[in-house]
Amino acid sequence: TLSLVWLRRDLRLHDNAALYHALRSGRPVLPLFIFDRIILDDLEDRHDRRVEFIVQEINRLRDELAQMGTALIVRYGKPIDVWKELAEQYNIGDVFTNHDYEVYAKDRDKAVGELLAERGIGFHTSKDQAIFERDEVLSGSKSPYTVFTPYSRNWHGKLNAFYLKSYPTKQYFRQFYKTGALSVPTLDEMNFRPVGEPFPARTVADKLLSKYDETRDFPALPHSTSQLSIHLRFGTISIRELARQAKKADDRTFLNELCWRDFYFQVLDHFPHVEKHSFRRDYDHIRWRNKENEFEAWCRGETGYPLVDAGMRQLNTIGWMHNRVRMITASFLCKHLLIDWRWGEAYFGKKLRDYDLSANNGGWQWAAGSGTDAAPYFRVFNPTLQAQKFDPKGEYIRHWIPELNSLNYPQPIVEHAMARQRAIDTYKKGLTKD
Ligand code: FAD
Repeated sequence: TLSLVWLRRDLRLHDNAALYHALRSGRPVLPLFIFDRIILDDLEDRHDRRVEFIVQEINRLRDELAQMGTALIVRYGKPIDVWKELAEQYNIGDVFTNHDYEVYAKDRDKAVGELLAERGIGFHTSKDQAIFERDEVLSGSKSPYTVFTPYSRNWHGKLNAFYLKSYPTKQYFRQFYKTGALSVPTLDEMNFRPVGEPFPARTVADKLLSKYDETRDFPALPHSTSQLSIHLRFGTISIRELARQAKKADDRTFLNELCWRDFYFQVLDHFPHVEKHSFRRDYDHIRWRNKENEFEAWCRGETGYPLVDAGMRQLNTIGWMHNRVRMITASFLCKHLLIDWRWGEAYFGKKLRDYDLSANNGGWQWAAGSGTDAAPYFRVFNPTLQAQKFDPKGEYIRHWIPELNSLNYPQPIVEHAMARQRAIDTYKKGLTKD
């Protein structure tokens, strides 16, 4: 009888909660990964960096496991169907996996848990990708926080060595079931093509921690931010190890970003309506203009506002955008163009290599002013002033827009002062409707 550990957003063997519990179950252990067709079939662009990254990391795991004389089971299909087959094929006693806070994932896990229970198989889940989750950081009245600052105060206050301890999986690796390596589907077999660009390093640059507070708002600097987001998204690094490093370097600003990550996980977990609606329901009444041609100009990076366009071109070219610029491009779409934040959210969702529903939704609702931690709607970023402040020499802008000073660069799609006033008026009207 085996214990299976189902890897999802935790593609590593060290410091992995579910794997640790599986290895300690007393039964031989086999890890499993499912390429989920429900997700993959929906991806229009078959050059998808995320799928490429997962394939790369799954092959790495397969090799690491092969060196220990064990295997990774890899399947391509719908999770519930795959589990039906696995339960037939293997003698499974227990299944271990880590929590996921997305609605789709919670429903999937519930269905799989029930299927396994019918077959007498235990389904055990653990916290792994967050430092604090669910009800671990609550307000004085025991309700979930909806404003970041008090949440973060509580979060930082609770952050002690206990919560950052690693799960020492390595000392139990002998518990892996001994068997020959199994095959991994290729990108081609799943009808994807490689983009073929290297992914950022898995480690945080020495220069970054302790200087992060000074660098993080300047997109032109080479180590402005860590670029670890894809690794955090797929769990190829451990959040606990990273937080320990930041704590050791006494980098509270960096830790605060990890706090935002936990914050948005718990928002999605407690308020699942945010996936489709504004957190503040009254914001669903805003009459967006939703002009398709303007949306397309924004997507292509042709709004005539250099910082907005540089950001969109960075996103389109490398599948990542600097945080400061994410805020500015998102705000521009919602406020200057009055396009529904959900359009922008979906576009980022297609393009970002670090796409994570909770952080992306949180970031977009923040920009639209509709979210948990919103600035008042009458605060509208001025993209020209933002560029002067955060890209004072125009280096970031010129890198992404080489034709900036030529006739080929478009005129501003909308005039700032007019757009600002129009946004304020439209929001006001929408919010006082009922
Ligand atoms: P660093 O600055 O080095 O931060 C370290 C880590 O902290 C990040 O990797 C990330 O995991 C976390 N983090 C940092 N800022 C935030 C934040 N505001 N919210 C949540 N976590 C944060 N982040 C995503 O991981 N996926 C997304 O899909 C995503 N979409 C966004 C959309 C918008 C409109 C905005 C404004 C922000 C979004 N962010 C998203 C948050 C942030 O922009 C990215 O996490 C960050 O730019 C990733 O680069 P980095 O790893 O160099 O970050």
